[in-house]
Amino acid sequence: MSSYDYDLFVIGGGSGGVRAARVAASLGKRVAIAEEYRYGGTCVIRGCVPKKLFVYASQFHEHFEDAEGFGWTVGESSFDWKKLVAAKDAEIARLEGLYKKGLSGANADILETRAELVDAHTVRLMKTGQTVTAKTIIIATGGRPNPHAALPGHEFCISSNEAFHLEELPKSIVIAGGGYIAVEFANIFHGLGVETTLIYRGAEILSRFDEDLRRGLHEAMVAKGIRILCHDTLQKVSKGEDGLTLETMNNGTLQAGVVLLALGRDPNTEGLGLEAAGVAVDERGAIIVDDYSRTNIENIYALGDVTNRVQLTPVAIHEAMCFIETEYKNNPTRPDYDLIPTAVFSLPEIGTVGLSEEEAGKRYDELEVYRAQFRPLKATLSGRAERMIMKLIVDAASRKVVGAHILGHDAGEMAQLLGVTLKAGCTKDDFDQTMALHPTAAEELVTMYAPSYRVRDGQRV
Ligand SMILES: Cc1cc2nc3c(=O)[nH]c(=O)nc-3n(C[C@H](O)[C@H](O)[C@H](O)COP(=O)(O)OP(=O)(O)OC[C@H]3O[C@@H](n4cnc5c(N)ncnc54)[C@H](O)[C@@H]3O)c2cc1C
Repeated sequence: MSSYDYDLFVIGGGSGGVRAARVAASLGKRVAIAEEYRYGGTCVIRGCVPKKLFVYASQFHEHFEDAEGFGWTVGESSFDWKKLVAAKDAEIARLEGLYKKGLSGANADILETRAELVDAHTVRLMKTGQTVTAKTIIIATGGRPNPHAALPGHEFCISSNEAFHLEELPKSIVIAGGGYIAVEFANIFHGLGVETTLIYRGAEILSRFDEDLRRGLHEAMVAKGIRILCHDTLQKVSKGEDGLTLETMNNGTLQAGVVLLALGRDPNTEGLGLEAAGVAVDERGAIIVDDYSRTNIENIYALGDVTNRVQLTPVAIHEAMCFIETEYKNNPTRPDYDLIPTAVFSLPEIGTVGLSEEEAGKRYDELEVYRAQFRPLKATLSGRAERMIMKLIVDAASRKVVGAHILGHDAGEMAQLLGVTLKAGCTKDDFDQTMALHPTAAEELVTMYAPSYRVRDGQRV
C-alpha cells in the first residue's frame, strides 16, 4: 500500500481533468479531483455547450423567414433573452450533475475547492487549508480569457464568460477579435437582433483556416448585416450615460451597449504553486510538457488548455486517455494531433479537417484542388442568397485527400465524418468511387470529378 493519501490527484474539473479522474478511479486507483468553480469546466459551463445552445437560438429568425417560401405563414415572433439564459442554465446544471455522478460512480473523491501545489507530491485544499498527498498529480486547470489589461477602459468590457449571463440583450455590441470565439459570438448576437460590429487587427478573420472559407464567411456575414472592421484595433473604451464609447485606430469613434473582448486565452497557472513543486512553464505561463503530457517533474502531468497545445475539448479528453494508457496500462501513448476536425459555428458554418490550400501548398509539390460553390436546394424556395463552398485538397502524387473544407449548413457535422476518411488515408479515387447520396449538399463531395485548378510549388496554375 502506497504511503500517499491518493494514487492520483487531479487539479481542475474540466474536460480533461474529469476524464482522467473518472477513468483512473474506475480502474481501481484511489483518486481525488478538485474544482474551484463548477464541474464540467469551460466546455460545459461557459464554452462549447452553452455557446452551441445560443447558436441554435440565434438561427430561428432565419428559419421563420425561410418558412414563407415553403408555404408557411409564421405569426409575429418575439425573442426573450432571459428565457433563453434560464433554459440554458438549467441544461448546464443538469450536465454538471452528470459529470459529478460519473465521478462518484467511479468512486473518485469530489472536492469543491481550489487546490494549489505545496510540493511535487502535496496539494493544499484552499477551502480548508488541509493538505493531501498523491503519488501522481495531474494539472488540468484550463485557461481564462485574456483581459487585455493594456487597453484603457478594458474594465468596462466583458469576456465570453459574462456573455453567457448578460442581464439584458444590448442594442449594439462591438466584439474585438478575429478567432472562432469572436466570430461565433458575432453571429450569435447578430442573429438575436443585436447591431453587431467585429473589429480585428488582422487582414482577414479566422487565421489558419482555408483562405476561401475565411473570405466566403466574411462576405456572408457582411451581407447579412454584421459590420467587420479588419486592420483595426480598439484604442480606448470609456463609459458614459448612453453606453460605451470606443476609440479605434482606423475607424474613428464607435458607440456600443456592450464590448466583448475575445483576444485569446491565458493558461490558469498563476498562484498554482508551480514554483514550489518545480514545474516549468513557458513565456506565456503555459505548462511545458513532453510528448506524453509529463511535466519536467516525473510524477506531475499537465493536460488540456493549460499546456497551450490545441485548445479544444476532444483534444483535452484525448490527452487524458493517453495519460491513462501511459501511466496505468503500461502502454506509453502520445496524443495524436494529426487531422483534428474543427468547426466554426457561425451562420453559415465552417467545417474543416486537414490542411488548408495555403498550408498544403507549402508541404506538397503539386496539389489538385476540387472546389464547388453552389446554391443549396433549400435556398431555392426560401429565396435566401446563400452559397455553399466545398473544397478538397489532394496531393497530386499520392492522390491522398489532405484537406477538406466546407462553408454552409451542417458543415461541422460533415467535417466530423470527413475526419474519418482523411484519417483512414482515403484517396480522391475513394471519394470518386463512393456513391452519391441524393439529394444532399454533401453529395458534392463525391461528385467533383475534375480538378478546379492545380497548385504547383505553392502557386495556382
Ligand atoms: C466560448 C468558448 C467556446 C468554445 N467552444 C468550443 C467548441 O465549440 N469546441 C471545442 O472543442 N472547444 C471549445 N472551446 C474550448 C474548450 O472549452 C476547451 O478546450 C476545454 O474546455 C479545455 O478543457 P480543460 O480540461 O483543459 O480545461 P477547462 O475545461 O477549462 O477546465 C479547467 C477547470 O479547472 C478549474 N480550475 C482552475 N484552476 C483551479 C485550481 N487551482 N483548483 C481547482 N480548480 C481549478 C477551472 O475552474 C475549470 O473548471 C471553447 C472555449 C470557449 C471559451
